[in-house]
Amino acid sequence: MTALLDSIRDSLIGLKMPRALEALDHTVTRLERGEVTAIEAIDQLLAEEFTTRETRRIDVALRTSRLLPGRGPQVKTVESFDFSFQPSVDRSRIMTLAELGFVERREVVHFLGPPGTGKSHLARALGVAAVKAGRRVYSGTLAEIIDGLAVAERQGRLAEKIAHHSRASLLIVDEIGYLPITPGGANLFFQLVNARYEKGAMILTSNRGFAEWGEVFGDPVVATALLDRLLHHAIVVQIEGASYRLRAHTDLIPEHVRSNAPISPPPAPKKRGRPPKKATADH
Ligand code: ADP
Ligand code: MG
Repeated sequence: MTALLDSIRDSLIGLKMPRALEALDHTVTRLERGEVTAIEAIDQLLAEEFTTRETRRIDVALRTSRLLPGRGPQVKTVESFDFSFQPSVDRSRIMTLAELGFVERREVVHFLGPPGTGKSHLARALGVAAVKAGRRVYSGTLAEIIDGLAVAERQGRLAEKIAHHSRASLLIVDEIGYLPITPGGANLFFQLVNARYEKGAMILTSNRGFAEWGEVFGDPVVATALLDRLLHHAIVVQIEGASYRLRAHTDLIPEHVRSNAPISPPPAPKKRGRPPKKATADH
C-alpha cells in the first residue's frame, strides 16, 4: 500500500498535479473508511486538480483579456444581469448569444442604448462566457484600443499590434461615442476592423446611433467604411430604458433623463462639448 502510494505520488509530481497530490491522503483515508468507492476516489482526485487548473486558467485569461481589471468591479456575468429591470433586453436572445454561436460565425454584436442600461455589463458577460469556453478574448474601450494602436504606430509596430488583436476570437470595443477620437484614430481603428473583418467576432457598445458615426469618428468616409464591415454580419441589440446606475435616485433625476432617453443626443449642440467624465466611471 505504501509503495503504491509512493508510486502514485511520483506520478502526480511527474505529471505536475500538485492539487491532486495535496488531496491524495485525504482521499485515501475516505477510501479506507469506506466513505467513497475506488471509482469515486479517482474521480475526486482528478476533479480537484482539474477544477483548480480551470479556475487558474480562467483567472489568467480574464486578466489578459482585460475583462477583470485589477482594481476591478466583480466579474460581470449573464446570470448577474437583472432582466426584469431592463425589459427591452430579451433574455432568451442574450442567453443564445452566451452560447457563443456568434463567435463561431464571426459575427458582430452591437449593444446600443443610453448610459447605464447595461451595455458594458452584457458585452463583458459575453466575453467572460467566451473566456470560460476557452476562446481568446481582448476587450477595451474604443479610446484605449486606439491609444494602443497609436503607440504601436509610433514605435513602428502597428502591423504587429493589429495582428495581435486579430488573434483574439472575440474583440470587445466598449464606449464608442463617449470620448472624441484623437486625430488619425478613426483611421487606425479602421485598419484593425478591416484586418479582423470576417476573421473574428466583435462586440461593440455605443450610446450613439449609427447615423452619428460620421460625427463620432470625425470622418464620414471612414465611418461609412467602418459601418460597411461592422454591419455586414451583425446582430443589433437596442436597449431602451432607465439607467441602472441611477436606479436608487430616480427622484433626483429630471423626467427627460429618467426613462426612454433617446439614443441620439438632443439636436444642434453648436460646440461639441466633452461628455461628462462620469460616463466611464464604472470601468
Ligand atoms: P452602460 O455600459 O450601458 O453605460 P453598464 O453596463 O456599465 O452600463 O451598467 C452600469 C452598472 O450597472 C454596472 O455596474 C452594471 O453591472 C450594472 N447594471 C446595469 N444594468 C444592469 C441590470 N439590468 N442588472 C444588473 N446590473 C446592471
Ligand atoms: Mg459602458
